[in-house]
Amino acid sequence: MLSFFALACGTAPAADSGVSPPQHLLLVSIDTLRVDHLEHAPTLQRLADEGLVLRAHRSCANWTAPAMICALTGQSGIDLGVDPRNAGALRTTWSLPEHAELLAEVLQAEGFATGLVTTNSLLARGNGLARGYDTLESRPAAVAEDALDATDALFVDAERRFVHVHLFDPHCPYAPPGSDDTLGSPYCMGEPSATSPSAETVAELAADYVTEVAYLDLQLGRALERWGAAGWLDDTLTVVMSDHGEQLGERAEIGHGLDVFAEETDALAIFAGVGGPDIEVPTQHQDLKPLILQHLGLLEGFEVRERPLLVASIDAESTVLALERESWLYRRGWDGSRALYDRATDPEQLVDRRDDEPELAAELEVAMEDEVARLLAIYPEWEPE
Ligand SMILES: [Zn+2]
Repeated sequence: MLSFFALACGTAPAADSGVSPPQHLLLVSIDTLRVDHLEHAPTLQRLADEGLVLRAHRSCANWTAPAMICALTGQSGIDLGVDPRNAGALRTTWSLPEHAELLAEVLQAEGFATGLVTTNSLLARGNGLARGYDTLESRPAAVAEDALDATDALFVDAERRFVHVHLFDPHCPYAPPGSDDTLGSPYCMGEPSATSPSAETVAELAADYVTEVAYLDLQLGRALERWGAAGWLDDTLTVVMSDHGEQLGERAEIGHGLDVFAEETDALAIFAGVGGPDIEVPTQHQDLKPLILQHLGLLEGFEVRERPLLVASIDAESTVLALERESWLYRRGWDGSRALYDRATDPEQLVDRRDDEPELAAELEVAMEDEVARLLAIYPEWEPE
């Protein structure tokens, strides 16, 4: 069943409604947070309950740099011609082209005072992702409490301000303060481990991951309380997102940067305190910048529309693309493999349905060709069979 429908974002204050949009923006981006773990995160759950949630939200990638390119520019690395390979997990040679327009640049031009505290150095490495911030503090892998404390300084007395904090918990190693965990380390590198972790190790790491989520959530709750009590959140749009998810044994691995399935690519997106119905159509990180600008009264006419979503796991050795349409995910691997999954009936994406849906598979194969061509233009060494 094909059902294309538009969902007007009716919750953004209309120009003629007499309601002024918020003056300020707080963006909290959380590394590696699985959206299906909110049961361990009462603060995030409360924000979701009280706010507007993008219910079927995806990242565009499975690791930080390409994911945050999408969220902060509204375009994917492939759109922008950036070679987004995850070579050695910390590829540093790419940089955003000048024509990529970052959220911070837009807001800076609108007169916002802009500031970023990031615990993931990929956002502050001279690759262009930190363009547009008046102040930038890079605290690699700092724990949430320290990063959130440092964020206090960004709440400057300005007519309009954009405060952005990127939190590294619950990225591996899964070791919140007070924990003696070291198990995360061998499975931390964004590439398949030499030997798959045992079921026992997976269970232990999954439990450690939960403690990281709970720690992060507790600290975020305290910070929001502190900022609220200080009046810093008055007249502020607060957006909370995750850059990507984390595999916890679903495909016999731990970590991310590995594949394109839900556990790594579903992402959190909450517009806290914003009323109106949640957005149910599939959305992607590229939608966040326009949605934020719309809620700040700086963009008119943007509508979230159901459309095919491209998710990429681009690696020097094992690139995988997925094209999603409605509930279907079509996966094309570096080894020439293809598969079609129906997330509606098979949420874990385990059963290849190409034989049941040959027409749809053929259609998505053709649609994928365009994406492959765009990828080959910037990454010619990738030669899918
Ligand atoms: Zn990340």
